[in-house]
Amino acid sequence: MENRRVRLRYAPSPTGPQHMGGIRTALFSYLYAKRHGGDFILRIEDTDQTRFVEGAEDYIVESLAWCGITTDESPAQGGPHAPYRQSERKESGIYKKYADQLIAGGHAYMAFDTPEEVDAMRERLDAAKVASQYNSITRQTMRNSLTLSEDEVKKLLDAGTPYVVRLKVPRNEEIRFHDIIRGWVVVNSSTVDDKVLLKSDGMPTYHLAHIVDDIEMKITHAVRGEEWLPSAPAHILVYRYLGLENIMPEYAHLPLLLKPDGNGKLSKRDGDRLGFPTFPLDWKDPKTGEVSSGYREKGYYPEAFVNILALLGWNPGNNLELMTLSEMTELFSFERVSKSGAKFDPEKAKWFNQQYLRKQTNAELAKVFAEDLEKRGIKTTVNLEKACELLKEKAHFMHEFWNNGSFFFVPPTSYDADVIKKRWNEQSAAFITELTEAYKNLSTFTAAETEATFKATAEKMGIGSGQVMQLFRVCISGVGGGPILFEMVELLGKEEVVRRLETALKNLSSQM
Ligand code: GLU
Repeated sequence: MENRRVRLRYAPSPTGPQHMGGIRTALFSYLYAKRHGGDFILRIEDTDQTRFVEGAEDYIVESLAWCGITTDESPAQGGPHAPYRQSERKESGIYKKYADQLIAGGHAYMAFDTPEEVDAMRERLDAAKVASQYNSITRQTMRNSLTLSEDEVKKLLDAGTPYVVRLKVPRNEEIRFHDIIRGWVVVNSSTVDDKVLLKSDGMPTYHLAHIVDDIEMKITHAVRGEEWLPSAPAHILVYRYLGLENIMPEYAHLPLLLKPDGNGKLSKRDGDRLGFPTFPLDWKDPKTGEVSSGYREKGYYPEAFVNILALLGWNPGNNLELMTLSEMTELFSFERVSKSGAKFDPEKAKWFNQQYLRKQTNAELAKVFAEDLEKRGIKTTVNLEKACELLKEKAHFMHEFWNNGSFFFVPPTSYDADVIKKRWNEQSAAFITELTEAYKNLSTFTAAETEATFKATAEKMGIGSGQVMQLFRVCISGVGGGPILFEMVELLGKEEVVRRLETALKNLSSQM
């Protein structure tokens, strides 16, 4: 293994949108490959045609591209081991070749049982409360090339009887293998069933196909979800029986992503219930039309999404949290990936986006905000860079800028009712009147100056600033919260602020 070029693959099945856990698998594989100067490959595992979903492969490609996870070989790019879709690889007879080799070596066999016969066997065993597996014991009661005579097998084959190829898993043998995250794993072969390797339509199952392709594509590390751990012993046996244990990739089974409360696997339903996406991009189910929401459309930066994913199960040490893809590449190792499930924290996810939002320059934000305003038909002379500087302090997402700051562009037509009820009275109205006059006389209208004038006016009238501060904010913005008050006042400018105060006095005069 020592001198092999490091090569990792992401091998999704195009059965629907990739869950964020899938993209994490891609990310970790990419990081490891790049950390060691190796290759990252996208392979499409589409051997289960019944689960094939139109558009799913494009979704995978688009998701990786959005995340900045680049591939060295893929169905679209091609590469030295093309094609990269298993359905297309099947044409060369490669999977059958390996299956035949296993049969010839006495490690796999043909099973002619009909699906009904297999079901009946399972029912029988279920009724007897015995593990209902096709295995070293039950295979003896079934119709396969181990129980039938050579003649009978020949006859069945000549008659074109459909059959599957199964792995002949030995009885009561210890299977040991090393997982880079979990260390040594020991499993007794009695818990492993005789997995189908080749289906009756000639298509390989995942169990055979991924091994053949990992061998052919010279994969050095196979990273996948924890759900594959129970099948791993069967995979180890296949390598052993092929005599290729020496080039078997090192397996890494990643921990599950858990619900925010740590209680079970994170699912789309948790996301829907708690209001966060579990997919990288929006996905519209081609059959039902149902839309699953994605991080991209929810306003996350791809850099934030990738950063969130990286820390689900991996910890670079030193309390490091914010990292670019290339910084992660420098630091990544499987030794620091945890065995136990990674709890997903939706609030922390938002926090990450906020950090990336704050990293944007005001000019970058202003450009995006200008487009948003244009779509809304807003024409403005307000200094957008300054507005963005103020708005980004309190937002987690760019799309909140409009909700939090529309008053910069459109004067209020209504006023926060609670604040008015609590604070609007003869004395405060007199204060607003007085303040309006004082502002009219200011020759420079900076945050510092408007604040000093505000305080001086309150003091002169014997009112505590705190009593009228929020009312003042409501008079000019309509709402009780928002950006730093006097910065906001400076940005709106003297004419606009005076005009809004006069309007508020008029609009509110009847409400005392
Ligand atoms: N095609 C498998 C899946 O979609 C990939 C598992 C693996 O990476 O080996 O889960």
